[in-house]
Amino acid sequence: MKLTLLGTQGWIPTRERATTCFAVEDGERLLVFDAGTGLSRLARPPFQPLVERSREIHVLLTHYHLDHTCGLAYLPGIFPGRHVTVHAPAASLTGVDPGRALEDLIRPPYNPREWRRLDGVELREVQAGANDIAGHRVVVRAQQHTDTSVAYRLDDALVVSTDTAADPATAEFAAGASVLLHEAWYLGGGPPATASASPPPGYAGHSEALAVAALAAAARVGRLVFVHLNPLEDETAYTAMAAAARRVFRAVEVGSDGARFSLDLM
Ligand SMILES: [Zn+2]
Ligand SMILES: [Zn+2]
Repeated sequence: MKLTLLGTQGWIPTRERATTCFAVEDGERLLVFDAGTGLSRLARPPFQPLVERSREIHVLLTHYHLDHTCGLAYLPGIFPGRHVTVHAPAASLTGVDPGRALEDLIRPPYNPREWRRLDGVELREVQAGANDIAGHRVVVRAQQHTDTSVAYRLDDALVVSTDTAADPATAEFAAGASVLLHEAWYLGGGPPATASASPPPGYAGHSEALAVAALAAAARVGRLVFVHLNPLEDETAYTAMAAAARRVFRAVEVGSDGARFSLDLM
């Protein structure tokens, strides 16, 4: 299996980075985690061949915030003539009914067509614990975010954990995985560590980089890749964040749009 990062920015896209979207190519199956603006990269070279080679397409949603879902209305355009299964967390995980949430989100005047009228798009719910998706064991757990998000574990290959505060339970959830994609929103010493009880707007429900590195070390993952980067910071800040985190966990890097990783077991 091959992992391609299509969008590594949080909130809003920048010139360098699109918002959250990660693709896993497994033979003729394509698993796409979140549908932020990074989804658009699948429409053009050099990433279009991922679509052309795929006979089975699955999109797995972590939650409904727009930086993770703004591409959903365009699925029939990105995957023309194809069947796409969208997997969203069940209400028992998040308190939100996925069908109702998507009908609220994908409708005029916010999107050109209603969710139920998107050609070839089917919704399935994922449950807490193990799910069978495209022949893989996909484990799901709820995370603490401003609205509840979920983390995904794809076999022992990949863990996707974004839009969450750093959570000690992630260490067990990610134990032994080849690659941990985890958000890193700020470096200790910046907000909210300097603030009193309540963090400044935009920091609640997000992760501090050194705490994330400690989770990766406890989980003994093969590699930690920082994603969902803060668009109010710049590349220099991301590099500094990874350098600091490397003192806690050696194999950490900043994810970049277009970066590819092998998910072969280590
Ligand atoms: Zn987000
Ligand atoms: Zn979010």
